[in-house]
Amino acid sequence: MNTQHISTSRRDFLKTSASMAGMFLLGFPAWGAQDYPRRTIHPYPNKLAWGDGTLRLSKRATLALGRDCDVEMMKDLWQRFTFGAVKLDVTSDPSLKPVEFSLAGARPPQREPNDTYALTVNASGIAASGVDAAAVRHAWFTMLQLLQPGDDSVAASLLAARRTTSDSPPAASRLAATVAVSNHDLSFAVPHVEIHDWPVMKFRGLHLCIFRETPPHMIERAIRLAAFFKFTHVVLEFWGMLKLEALKELSWPEAWTKAEAGKLVRIARSMGLEVIPMFNSWGHATACRIAYGRHVVLDQNPRLAPLFEPDGWTWCLTNPRTLDLLRRVHDELIEFAGPGQYFHIGCDEAYSHATCDRCRQTDRVQLFADHINNLAAHLEKRGRRAMMWGDALLERAKWPSGFAANGSPALPTHLALDRVSRKIIINDWHYDVKGEVPTLAHFRERGLETIACPWNSTANIRALSKAAVANKSDGLLMTTWHHLVQSIPALHYTAACVWSKDQAALGLRQAEGALPRAATASILRKLAPADGKFDRAGWNTFELPSVID
Ligand SMILES: [Zn+2]
Repeated sequence: MNTQHISTSRRDFLKTSASMAGMFLLGFPAWGAQDYPRRTIHPYPNKLAWGDGTLRLSKRATLALGRDCDVEMMKDLWQRFTFGAVKLDVTSDPSLKPVEFSLAGARPPQREPNDTYALTVNASGIAASGVDAAAVRHAWFTMLQLLQPGDDSVAASLLAARRTTSDSPPAASRLAATVAVSNHDLSFAVPHVEIHDWPVMKFRGLHLCIFRETPPHMIERAIRLAAFFKFTHVVLEFWGMLKLEALKELSWPEAWTKAEAGKLVRIARSMGLEVIPMFNSWGHATACRIAYGRHVVLDQNPRLAPLFEPDGWTWCLTNPRTLDLLRRVHDELIEFAGPGQYFHIGCDEAYSHATCDRCRQTDRVQLFADHINNLAAHLEKRGRRAMMWGDALLERAKWPSGFAANGSPALPTHLALDRVSRKIIINDWHYDVKGEVPTLAHFRERGLETIACPWNSTANIRALSKAAVANKSDGLLMTTWHHLVQSIPALHYTAACVWSKDQAALGLRQAEGALPRAATASILRKLAPADGKFDRAGWNTFELPSVID
């Protein structure tokens, strides 16, 4: 399967290279619009009609904004996408509606009933209209993907070269000289187009983990890319890597301060993402992967053992200090993440629940249900809804293999399903599922809202997205775990699934082979420039692994 993929993309690369060579030899593109889109746009708009003309922007442009447009974000990204080559003069225009913009003087288009935004490019300029501030932000992200840098003097020389005989040495040397001197003289071509666009899912989230080895700039890249691909939420899970006042042992000495980590929150919010704070409030209490056996608290202070079940993996729920500590951590993280509607309490894979001498005496299912409801009630007082992973509420024997269902005869937590607060949103995760996802209907029929959660395989992302729409889920939360380097180049795929009607964008030429990977890299180069540094470029810190496996 992989081999075939590689050979396909290698063929595509050769084909593309041949076309490129043709383009430079003949002086005009060798491919038609049907082979390759005039512009790749991720996620591709739901309704788009290319026009025939091209608008050219160079040196200066005027941007008129309605009252609710996000002027700082727009200026910042304009600078990043035009490399400072086209100065933007920003004005506010009272004749525009609050969520409209007009670049170079165009009139904002009429929105159609389905649209969250409409965007038009014609001879008079570029303009957009949105239903709200988020929608007009999305119009801006789409517009930036229409910009193609070019060099007018090179274009003029190419035309001149075509007018002389094709093998004339003077024309070629004239062209070379022009390229050398006009390196900084950029203009931008924007094809005429009319776009009407809207998302198919309301909630479009990305779950990110910060491990000890995670470079902050990689998280920044993932956040910027997710926002640019029109995601709505980012969940930040710190694996012992954020300093907390509630208990110093909850983080390693090398953990980030809130000031350091706050930069990521500011970046996310500046691009329109809501940050969902997260803290594992039942299982995964080690804040470290089970694979290597660390425990952020007990490896620093073993005397805190009574907060946990004997193996340390799960919080001890009959110790009143546990609930008190968790509430304080939740409050602290809420303040850290800024305004928002949600808090993720984790609560997956709590295999050693109620195994201490005291917890064993209790009704273990009720102990679990009470704990979840206590946390949800506390969060509700803070104006937030709890999100939790769904595996404890699903019975292992009831669902096919591949489904994450951890209720068992030995630990029948699935019996708590009818006892947990209906304010809780179930994050239904299944990473080995590539077909139907009946668990979403199972939760919905019992009055619980759901969000479908895939990982980084495209078949898994596609299946859960399809199921989320079919089962009226609130949306999708893509998880990344310790596979961030694979997840960043898969983000375009998730974006297509959560945005595109009937996943139509997945069938486009821009989604084939390695093309979206290259497009992702090109976008990241603008969103978060590497400034010439090898380990800040792309989405991995090395080019080859140190061990061949
Ligand atoms: Zn206990």
